[in-house]
Amino acid sequence: SDGPYSPPDFRGDFGAGLLDLHAMDDTELLSEEVLADSFEPSPLLPGDTRTFQGDFYPVNSKLERGEADFDASISLPMNESDNITREHNVAKIKVVVRKRPLNKKELAKKEDDVVSVSDYAYLTVHEPKLKVDLTAYVEKHDFCFDAVFDENVTNDEVYRDTVEPIIPTIFERTKATCFAYGQTGSGKTYTMQPLPLRAAEDLVRQLHQPLYRNQNFKLWLSYFEIYGGKLFDLLGDRKKLLMREDGRQQVCIVGLQEFEVSDVQIVGEFIEKGNAARSTGSTGANEESSRSHAILQLAIKKHKEVKEGKRNNDKNEERSGKLVGKISFIDLAGSERGADTTDNDRQTRIEGAEINKSLLALKECIRALDNDQIHIPFRGSKLTEVLRDSFVGNSKTVMISCISPGAGSCEHTLNTLRYADRVKSLSKSGNPRK
Ligand code: ADP
Ligand code: MG
Repeated sequence: SDGPYSPPDFRGDFGAGLLDLHAMDDTELLSEEVLADSFEPSPLLPGDTRTFQGDFYPVNSKLERGEADFDASISLPMNESDNITREHNVAKIKVVVRKRPLNKKELAKKEDDVVSVSDYAYLTVHEPKLKVDLTAYVEKHDFCFDAVFDENVTNDEVYRDTVEPIIPTIFERTKATCFAYGQTGSGKTYTMQPLPLRAAEDLVRQLHQPLYRNQNFKLWLSYFEIYGGKLFDLLGDRKKLLMREDGRQQVCIVGLQEFEVSDVQIVGEFIEKGNAARSTGSTGANEESSRSHAILQLAIKKHKEVKEGKRNNDKNEERSGKLVGKISFIDLAGSERGADTTDNDRQTRIEGAEINKSLLALKECIRALDNDQIHIPFRGSKLTEVLRDSFVGNSKTVMISCISPGAGSCEHTLNTLRYADRVKSLSKSGNPRK
């Protein structure tokens, strides 16, 4: 009854020694970031000025993206097909943006909505600015992504456009990741929460399809968080967990509780239970959870049929099965938390530095992945180390960048969009970092 399934192959993975050579240099990354973020379009022209960001404007891209070693002579591929795997026509990396509606507070303050979504893939940020003589003007920033969801797009539509196409690939040894990135309050949790529910439904439905029915596949769920560089089991009393690599450089989180999902109903309960367990400190639940990355994993595993009188030698495998594919949903720490590095509180500073490091490392890993680079710099942070096996071999990544529309969030919004833009467009321009 072995059908089309064959055990995972790890040819895409490389030994730890090799990877160490390319261990990340944080100082270098930080300075790159500072460069990019401090970039100001130089002369202030009267009226509107317009800066272009996106993968089809190679002119000035060096400056715009703050990449000192970017070779502008490399032509940027214009068409998406470069990025598409044939079997399922699913892009390896997809970067989308979701804009939430103005909230009550912003409406009460009569804040302007500074984000206009002009088309399925385009958006413009209208940044209010002051000239040297204090006259007001608006600077427009255009962006282009794989998709832009405006405030009227529902969670279901987001699911259909991002995660749904990936589901069938999970049965073919794909490890997928879906990130929600953005400042606190921009809609990450709102966007992320329903996705695993829908995904579990679809995964279970596929399990029962004729193609897989006799494969002994099962769906497993786990949920943990990374807080201050440490791992905690959100479904196991917030027990602190350790990560190790097995002989094949596969990530193993020791003691992480996994639950078999036979009834999809239970996924909702797990999510609620896990959310309730997320970091809560003296400052209140939302405040603290914005400093942690929450990772919910759905894994398809193949189980051996144990015939009577015959015992499987590998007890562990008998119990937990062999990984076929998985999808991880990651509600990232608030992107603004990475800047908490000058806070008065030492703990906050440490957490801020860790978040900064992990978000930069994440960007590097996704870029490396898209370039089919042999060396994936996942050793840069706990987050990327944990996701290591999702950055090699058959992988799919969806980045959902969440933005707040209010004028008061303009700077954070631009930072989020620039981050997303670098994940997407630079990754296509060859290897900008050596
Ligand atoms: P984050 O997780 O990024 O800190 P949340 O997901 O908690 O942000 O969202 C902040 C608030 O905005 C919540 O009250 C949430 O319900 C609301 N919200 C976020 N996105 C949307 C949306 N697309 N439509 C309606 N309300 C939203
Ligand atoms: Mg949240």
